[in-house]
Amino acid sequence: MPELVRDQGLVLRLQDQAETDRRVSLLSESRGRLELLVKGARRLERPFGAVLDLLNLVEVIYYRRRSGLHLLREATLIQDFPGIRQDLERLEAALLVLRWAWELVPREAPDPRAFRLTLGFLYALEKSASPRVLLAAYRLRLLSTLGYRPALHGCVACGKGEGLFWVPERGGLVCGECGGAGPEIPLRLRKAMDGLLRLPLGALLRLRLAPSDLEEIERLTLAFREAQLVR
Ligand SMILES: [Zn+2]
Repeated sequence: MPELVRDQGLVLRLQDQAETDRRVSLLSESRGRLELLVKGARRLERPFGAVLDLLNLVEVIYYRRRSGLHLLREATLIQDFPGIRQDLERLEAALLVLRWAWELVPREAPDPRAFRLTLGFLYALEKSASPRVLLAAYRLRLLSTLGYRPALHGCVACGKGEGLFWVPERGGLVCGECGGAGPEIPLRLRKAMDGLLRLPLGALLRLRLAPSDLEEIERLTLAFREAQLVR
């Protein structure tokens, strides 16, 4: 008999599978990204009610199988984040949070930090007036949690603190003498990114950044992810 396991997780993605089944991707507390098969899901009228909707925090009981997808047996709703669903800007940010988690968190990884980080950000988004700031912080922190923390405190080669450029493939800031080039990264932007990485969530909710700075931070973060994770 396959082992029966209980876990909790956030619903990251739903896909139809074969004729009548559905595949559910969860960001789980105990096993990183978890892929479950819901047998006969599409034959049933609203299988498990609306429990397995995108974004929901659910408790699941499933059969672990050695290969292929594990089999879902039961799912119970813990939290459905109504404050996010009622606000388009929050919802857009939350869907990008889910997408980053789905793309980056390894499958069957026993590290609970990505789950805790993501859940904490969704609770913060529930009442946030600045979802874009939270999204920018989440992206930097998820990368850090997974072992890709950008160097923001000076040149990665010599430690120099000014005249710095963004060189994602070398891990962050690099000065001109050590090979950095392109547009210089102003101190204001470096401080903002450092705050996004390190401030407690309560302080993040009060942080105000100019839209143009947020756009630039998003661009730098995407370039960093691209260089560090796609090789
Ligand atoms: Zn240098």
